[in-house]
Amino acid sequence: MQYWQADIETLAPQELAALQLQKLCRSVEQAGRSEFYRKRFAQHSLSAESIRSLDDIRRFPFTCKDELRQEYPWGLLTVGHDEIVRMHCTSGTTGNPVAILHSRRDLHNWANLVARSLFAAGTRPGEVFQNSSGYGLFTGGLGFQSGAELLGCLSIPAGSGNSQRQIKLMRDFGTTCLHAVPSYLGRLHNVFIENGLQPAKDTKLKRLFIGAEPHSEETRQRIQELYGCKAYNSFGMTEMNGPGVAFECECQNGMHLWEDAYLMEIIDPDTLEPLPDGELGELVLTTLDREAMPIIRYRTRDLTRIIAETCPCGRSARRIDRITGRSDDMFIIKGCNVFPIQIERILMRISEVGSDYLITLDSNDDGDFMLVQAELKHEAFSDEFPKLEQLRKRIAAAMRDEIQVTPRVQLVNPDTLPKSEGKAVRVKDLRKN
Ligand code: AMP
Ligand code: ZN
Repeated sequence: MQYWQADIETLAPQELAALQLQKLCRSVEQAGRSEFYRKRFAQHSLSAESIRSLDDIRRFPFTCKDELRQEYPWGLLTVGHDEIVRMHCTSGTTGNPVAILHSRRDLHNWANLVARSLFAAGTRPGEVFQNSSGYGLFTGGLGFQSGAELLGCLSIPAGSGNSQRQIKLMRDFGTTCLHAVPSYLGRLHNVFIENGLQPAKDTKLKRLFIGAEPHSEETRQRIQELYGCKAYNSFGMTEMNGPGVAFECECQNGMHLWEDAYLMEIIDPDTLEPLPDGELGELVLTTLDREAMPIIRYRTRDLTRIIAETCPCGRSARRIDRITGRSDDMFIIKGCNVFPIQIERILMRISEVGSDYLITLDSNDDGDFMLVQAELKHEAFSDEFPKLEQLRKRIAAAMRDEIQVTPRVQLVNPDTLPKSEGKAVRVKDLRKN
């Protein structure tokens, strides 16, 4: 087995824990240099010296997204302005975004984690990496770019959209790896077909990196079939740098969360108590390497579980399961709790359904209702009403079995639902509160 950093990636569990403890103390000490944590630690009489074991992290209060917004732009900065070299921020639609500031060392460490991730999924120096993420403030652009360059790939910053150009670049430069949000890959595949091309035959693609938005195993399987190569799940968030927080290795059995760089906890989002390995809960992360803006116990809102069994690849970083959604994605309809991913899983099992769908929640005189619009595949579109009606009923029944609510289902022409650049919008809630 080959590793990017064998010494760190294969540390024995006790050694990894010792390294984490040492880094945790350093990170807390560094965090205490910011205005925000200085006050907060003083309020709770906390300091790096009070940490004796990794469990002591539990004495520290959580940090939430709203606090990062309130502290915008400098409140969590721990170094002088002359030491920061880059900022990224989240796509806040209202009020202040969350801005993360990086020192030169932070950028190097981040690029190293991305390089390690790409390597773990089988990428080697000399390969050609194409990035269809938007560049700019979004971390999926520069984050992947820097990591792929550090690894030694020819890195093509194609940016988002413009499928014709994506395909041309792939073919002209022999792209072997492509990074894309999963919701874009169905559309890109349609453009291949419209041009009389097939990705598996007409490109050199060997692997895809898909992430930035929740997607089901069924979606991954579909993408792998469409492209005739493997698709690896990639997880990260701006607050924790961006991509390169957790990544699948070649075994494709969950994402190794790089524990030498992040301390992870899974908590019950209601009681805030820690949950044992294997139980689904909210992921909480503490940066262990960040210099300019360390974050202690960040509530990510992402729901997952820890897979504690060791991975056959020999990497000691524990894995997390694919993200089932964010605790704030869940919606309640007719008293039932529903995650968009449950709807997606059902749709993707139905071969006639294409890759795009939209869930609309609305109300009328009869109360709340849920409308699921699903695009059909080109070949599945038919003007035979009874056939479509039968399919529609089959989908509604499968959904009722899964979520206990029968939605209205509407089958629509391919390419008719609104498309977004970047992360897909899957739910529109038009209900009045
Ligand atoms: P941003 O910082 O704007 O890129 O958003 C980060 C968020 O995107 C995370 O907190 C997750 O909710 C979501 N996300 C990123 N990667 C994945 C993934 N592989 N699977 C599911 N959700 C993801
Ligand atoms: Zn592995």
